Amino acid sequence: MSQLCADSQLFQVLSLRLSASQTRRLSHLRLLVNSLLLGSVLTTMASTMAQAKDLTELRLIEGDIITSSKPSVSGIATRSISLSGASQLWVDGIVPYGIDPELPKGSVTAVAAAVEHWNKVGGVTLVSLDDWPSGQEQPRDSILFQPGSGCASWVGRLGGQQEVWVADNCTSGSIMHEIGHVLGLEHEHTRPDRDQYITINWDNIAEDKRHNFDVAPAGSRILGDYDYESIMHYGPSNFSVNGKETITPLLVSADVIGQRIVPSRGDLDSVAQLYAADLSIVTQVYSDAQGSEVTVHISNELAQGANTIDVDVQIGATQLIQSAGTGWDCGVQVESQVSCSLSRLAGSSSSKLTLTLKGVVDARQVTAVVRSKTPDGDTQNNEDNFDTAIEPTQASALADPATLTTTTTVSYGGAAFWLWPGLLLLLFQRLTGERIYGQARDRIES
Ligand SMILES: [Zn+2]
Repeated sequence: MSQLCADSQLFQVLSLRLSASQTRRLSHLRLLVNSLLLGSVLTTMASTMAQAKDLTELRLIEGDIITSSKPSVSGIATRSISLSGASQLWVDGIVPYGIDPELPKGSVTAVAAAVEHWNKVGGVTLVSLDDWPSGQEQPRDSILFQPGSGCASWVGRLGGQQEVWVADNCTSGSIMHEIGHVLGLEHEHTRPDRDQYITINWDNIAEDKRHNFDVAPAGSRILGDYDYESIMHYGPSNFSVNGKETITPLLVSADVIGQRIVPSRGDLDSVAQLYAADLSIVTQVYSDAQGSEVTVHISNELAQGANTIDVDVQIGATQLIQSAGTGWDCGVQVESQVSCSLSRLAGSSSSKLTLTLKGVVDARQVTAVVRSKTPDGDTQNNEDNFDTAIEPTQASALADPATLTTTTTVSYGGAAFWLWPGLLLLLFQRLTGERIYGQARDRIES
């Protein structure tokens, strides 16, 4: 079953109104009034949401997940903490989006803020269809932010254009929640291990709303630790029939859950983990009397593609004659550096950048630093070459972009004859280097 997930701002208002600390202060009379109000508002909201769109084939579950009454083509259950496979993730982490001209200005501003926030995260990039590169074919799959009676979204990539509902009262935080669904995140409280962290108070939930609290099916993918602060977590009183808590957290106070301000660190890490690629790099240098050639090969060994890849190549005292490589775009040489970019690198593929240089280059001066907005999911296999290393730009790992560095000399004279002696020489240098490092470490430890 395909799904669209909705998180009505109205629910949040009600949730805030009936948050645990406030609920304790309410008199019995106010509780009763609130209960009646809540019940009536939820009923009204459900009916207005149903009227808002042609819902002959659509329905909402868990308050804000849009689902189709049709069985999914793949037959894959998508109701999980995140999607279980890569097939419903966004290709190369690029999410093309459009904005319905009917969307009010305030909502457009809220959407822009939500998009900007998610775009800081490694792995995913939301690109406006208005900014789509003119040379590139229009994307087949995209999302459209459009007016709706609530905030709601499908979970993951459906294929084609899919809707994200933005009601007038949806804040940038609740739109961030919906984008979380777009990227493939499910509600945190549906995790299969949730009973260790929360209690569902079934008696406080209307019978026809209890399905919103079902545990995700077996096989769903759990990412990281249970995250009370997730922007994908329900508040303590969502779908309450009597004003009492529907979710009671076991390890934190109730006011921690249900925030709709920004994605938590756990949310960012989960998305970065979902969209991680597996990058590695090899640089080769060929020189002869006619000139030199530097090639940079970047490979991605995972099915998930990467986006926004930049390479800085140091070419020493030589001069760049030309650059070549499918999809590569290089700037002019600045001092000894040539900077090139590749907008995306598909899953299970590689790309080659070739720089033609004037004169003989000193191969020891050639280095390449590769950065990708997409995190490198496996840092153990980057050493396709000597001296290849990862340089994280920030201390924490997965939500940050990948940076790979290589300083490589593989062959001289452009002939295979020189390849193996060159490798042996480098191996010797490497072993020597390690021994020196080992001695230095011994000294430090003693
Ligand atoms: Zn939701």
